Amino acid sequence: MPELPEVETARSLIADQALHRRIVDVDDSDSYVGRPHSPGELRSALMGRSLIAAHRRGKTIWLETSGTGDAAAPDGPEIGIHLGMSGRIVVTGPDGSVAEGGDPHRYEARPRRAEWSRFTLRFADGGSLVLLDPRRLGRVRLNPDIGALGPDAAQVMRAEFRRLITKGTIAVKARLLDQSKIAGVGNLLADEILWQARVSPLARVDSLSSAQVNRLYRTLKSVLESANAKGGAHTGDIIAARHPGGTCPRDGAPMVHGTVGGRSTWWCSREQTLQLDQRSPAPEGARHITSGPTKATHQRDLAHRLEG
Ligand SMILES: [Zn+2]
Repeated sequence: MPELPEVETARSLIADQALHRRIVDVDDSDSYVGRPHSPGELRSALMGRSLIAAHRRGKTIWLETSGTGDAAAPDGPEIGIHLGMSGRIVVTGPDGSVAEGGDPHRYEARPRRAEWSRFTLRFADGGSLVLLDPRRLGRVRLNPDIGALGPDAAQVMRAEFRRLITKGTIAVKARLLDQSKIAGVGNLLADEILWQARVSPLARVDSLSSAQVNRLYRTLKSVLESANAKGGAHTGDIIAARHPGGTCPRDGAPMVHGTVGGRSTWWCSREQTLQLDQRSPAPEGARHITSGPTKATHQRDLAHRLEG
């Protein structure tokens, strides 16, 4: 699933290769990816324009478009693109060369089936921009509401992070995933950040110590830098241990699995324990500790507490 680092590869690809090419045809016939627009609406809004800038906040890309050449017509609408769970951007150059950005990382190993093309811009030079999305959970819409997103995870400042992360009683993992608070952290990055910071995903945000919040901020930045440098959220140190029987790469303790914030979550049974004052009541957003590879007493306690 594309998280901030993968979405940034798609944005930078568009910025490098798809700007200032006149749009001469648009396939917006997928009414699900194009919702709430009806087929033809995106087409008529974009014909004759060019993309002139590519922006990103969190996992949302938005593109500015030019006027149509008619002096009376000002710049065009913005196009919002969300890659969903499996989206990739494929840009074809005037010479037929093809480049990709987004999910997944092993582009050359993945086919490009025609039926996965959910939205296409065709350029006057013969090339195109395609949203390729096998699972069809991506989205394209005009003038997206970027203001509904929190600050970008790579840009957020420490004081703002502290304010946004600590308010309320929700589990910290659920808060990290809340795009209206901090934009760009998905499931893998959230598990990696919490593991690096040695914070339980179940900890209530109002119970986090100042030191824990500071560690979360520092690890947010370092995890994003590392993921950007290595090619995506899947390169995190904890990713290979997110399976039954997995052990913590730091101390060898069994990993615990549960559902937090509605998402499959893995954490170290030894280093990411809840502190006494974080334990009760069970935090909002934490449910269904479903399995774990160990019978350690503290884990049974944890499951009992969350179910009780
Ligand atoms: Zn550990």
